[in-house]
Amino acid sequence: MLFRPPIVLTRIFPTFIWRFFDQTDAIYITFDDGPSPEVTPWVLDQLDKFGAKATFFCLGKNAEMFPDLYAEVIRRGHSTGNHSYSHIKGWGMETGAYIRDVDTAAEFIHSNLFRPPYGRIGPHQAKMLSERYKIVMWEVLSRDYGRSISGKRCARNVIRDMRPGAIVVFHDSVKSARNLWVALPLVLQAIKERGWVCKKIEL
Ligand SMILES: [Zn+2]
Repeated sequence: MLFRPPIVLTRIFPTFIWRFFDQTDAIYITFDDGPSPEVTPWVLDQLDKFGAKATFFCLGKNAEMFPDLYAEVIRRGHSTGNHSYSHIKGWGMETGAYIRDVDTAAEFIHSNLFRPPYGRIGPHQAKMLSERYKIVMWEVLSRDYGRSISGKRCARNVIRDMRPGAIVVFHDSVKSARNLWVALPLVLQAIKERGWVCKKIEL
């Protein structure tokens, strides 16, 4: 299916987490690239409105720039993960430099979860980081960052593809806000109507 990760990746990286198999009624919504003062407070309010918990894969540079907002995410009962300091692409990047960027982010994000930016991480980088982190990928991509997709379409895709145990990706970034504002409430409503719950990732 279009919105599922290629099976070949799940074979190369068997320790990566793509979904939670033991869940019968939980959806794991995740937000990448924040926190962002323009978007994250609105996301937190939406989640509260639906009694939903989520996981925020933050950029170190944003957590450094907006420490109060980062603390607010945790205060509201959500979990956070490391998404690197500067949103680096692992492919073609020297492993030492890649790890250093993640370590810099760890000064501001205290979490044992890591999600590689763009999902692009080399086998050696993955092996090194797996010693210290649970590497969390995703099963359902909202594509909320797409310029040629509508918010309603994002929501429809997520609602079609999600199933209990699914890890879903949104972005609490300015770039994705136009679609997120439409898609997130629709998805949260659909989850509620199916009698499922949104849980944060804790490993
Ligand atoms: Zn990202």
